[in-house]
Amino acid sequence: MKLIGLMGLGLALLAQVASAKPVEVKFEKVSDHVYAYIGEMGDRSVDNFGLNSNHGLVVTDKGAVLIDSGASYTAAKQLEAAAAKVTKQPIVAVINTGSQDHRWLGNGYFADKGVEIVTLQRTVDAQKKQGAGQIAGLKNTLGEQMMGTEPVHATKPVAEDRKTLTIGGADFVVRYFADAHFAGDAVVYLPKTKVLFSGDHVYVDRILGVLPGHSNPKTWRTAVHEMMKTYPTAKVVPGHGQVCDMKKVKAETTNYLDYLNDVVGKAATNMEEIDVVSAKARDLPQFKHLKVYDVLHPKNVNSTFLFYEQGN
Ligand SMILES: [Zn+2]
Repeated sequence: MKLIGLMGLGLALLAQVASAKPVEVKFEKVSDHVYAYIGEMGDRSVDNFGLNSNHGLVVTDKGAVLIDSGASYTAAKQLEAAAAKVTKQPIVAVINTGSQDHRWLGNGYFADKGVEIVTLQRTVDAQKKQGAGQIAGLKNTLGEQMMGTEPVHATKPVAEDRKTLTIGGADFVVRYFADAHFAGDAVVYLPKTKVLFSGDHVYVDRILGVLPGHSNPKTWRTAVHEMMKTYPTAKVVPGHGQVCDMKKVKAETTNYLDYLNDVVGKAATNMEEIDVVSAKARDLPQFKHLKVYDVLHPKNVNSTFLFYEQGN
């Protein structure tokens, strides 16, 4: 009986492995000529090509513009194939909203084809510091999908913190507010359709992550407040989670950053005990429904506390 039981378990596991299928990378319509791929909200995996993130596609008369090129050469190819299902226009430009792996490590795939890469100078500076480490780290998770992936940057980075580009008659405002999830995070706003690609400034439906050594909870909060003031009526394609409005951004990103800074940061400045602060912060009904709350929220409390304790 025992043996049969074990065999049964083995078969069940095999069935599970066999049923793990790659996700379909597919752009959904957001507005006229504007599309988004809404990635999975969990971790990067081989099955999701490291695309646990959202990406944009804007179709113009003179070609398509991809917003964020994916975490690898393989991911970039997936995004290109998904774009080809929406438009016959080839991708003629890639805009990077940040320096986290999934925002830019696919640049090389497109640069090889002569596609222009558009990135703010301060974002390129942040990418340069991290590229090699990000690629080494992702090889552990994504294995051979990382083959051919090189850190490739915009050849003519944008010096300004705010720049309007016109491609095929469509305007793209690329704008930096402050260092957020990563240094050099930027947004892309389309004035005509009022769509805002917020990059990693905004997480909805899942909790954001304050990453030690990368995220600045203080200026991230400033950045999202500025973003909300600047584009109050925008339709938002967040960095992670479903397309939404600013009301949801406020409830699930801004209010959470306010809590981390005003409660946790303040407690650290007042030299309270971290254990007491963590215990008080454990169950927050206003954020508890967000995905991966149980895993990331305690870490966020910890990293924000340490950030302030170190005199930031
Ligand atoms: Zn991200």
